[in-house]
Amino acid sequence: MLMCDICNSEASSAADGAIVPARDFRQNVRNGSFDPFRLGLVVVNNLKSNEENHALWRQVVEANEGDWFLCAECNRAYQAASASRKPQVAAVDRPTPAGSAAVLPQTLDTIRRIQPRPALPPVPADWKPGLLAGMFGPPKPWGDTQQAAELIHQGRIAEGRELLWRIAAHSKELDARLHLCLESLRPPDDDRIVPNHVFPMVPREQRDSVTAIRAFFLRNGNQLGESFLAAADKPLPTAFSAHCFLLASLAVSDFWMQTQILHPRKREVDSVLITGVIKAFTQILARRFDEAWLLFGEAAAAPESTMEMYQRQLKVELEPPELRRLMSTVQLTARVGQGLVLAELGYTQLSRPHFHALAAEMEGRNAEACRLLS
Ligand SMILES: [Zn+2]
Repeated sequence: MLMCDICNSEASSAADGAIVPARDFRQNVRNGSFDPFRLGLVVVNNLKSNEENHALWRQVVEANEGDWFLCAECNRAYQAASASRKPQVAAVDRPTPAGSAAVLPQTLDTIRRIQPRPALPPVPADWKPGLLAGMFGPPKPWGDTQQAAELIHQGRIAEGRELLWRIAAHSKELDARLHLCLESLRPPDDDRIVPNHVFPMVPREQRDSVTAIRAFFLRNGNQLGESFLAAADKPLPTAFSAHCFLLASLAVSDFWMQTQILHPRKREVDSVLITGVIKAFTQILARRFDEAWLLFGEAAAAPESTMEMYQRQLKVELEPPELRRLMSTVQLTARVGQGLVLAELGYTQLSRPHFHALAAEMEGRNAEACRLLS
């Protein structure tokens, strides 16, 4: 059960409210923008005055390192109060992410604390392939791809993989096969799930996104670019193929940025630059979600640092309009990454509205992919 950190009212799900990062909240309380006592959000039944209670509460806010969960009503009041202050401090050049009303927390721990998990799918006692496995054909699957994904989301990787394996052996379902391709690039190693074996199980015309992701790890820049362009050229048949497409768009993000910067200057991309987004992409594949989350959060909040790195490394000085445009690309890419982390962990109640907001800001195949995940 979720309780509003301001008024203590119950919310049925995180989607009914918003998570506010501790740092932002403290800032808005400290500078006086947000005062829940003055706004009448809190009813206190003690003998102290509103001012005294407010002073005590401010001490709590100063000392609190955790993010704040606000119910829909308190969040509206908070957003209105803090928005009225913003124009004075907002940097002129920084594009502010529009759309999503729910503020994402700085760490995944906050989400883990408040977001209910789907029940763990049942697993039969004899799920492990035994000595007789294969003798009478592959054993039957005990569930569907969604359940296999949920097992993996919740850390039951061996069981999830076994289920995917059985589904792929008994049907031509695309998503189970795409899942196996990604699993072949992720820890822990598994003799049965290796790229050379599982990639050919996906029909050629639906393989481009995962091929691009694999090319990134093989450091094959040409194949990365070509496969991604090929993927962007084809419609996305399923939500999970959209997930793979957006992962591939993260893999190609640095290549794309460098092309945007170097091409007008008649220069070629000659090496990969490890931006925060690229690092976070590799961490998603390594299932190091907390680190990925922090990096995506940083890139979304301060895209100017990424752009400074590009200008320094490529020895280029960008024109202000160019800089603004690329900065919002960095931001959008980082927000796609945040959505993918939420989806990878199975927090669809949060990832769906997040992708819904992104779909409105993106174009082409990216927009379609976000829509499929919303
Ligand atoms: Zn509230």
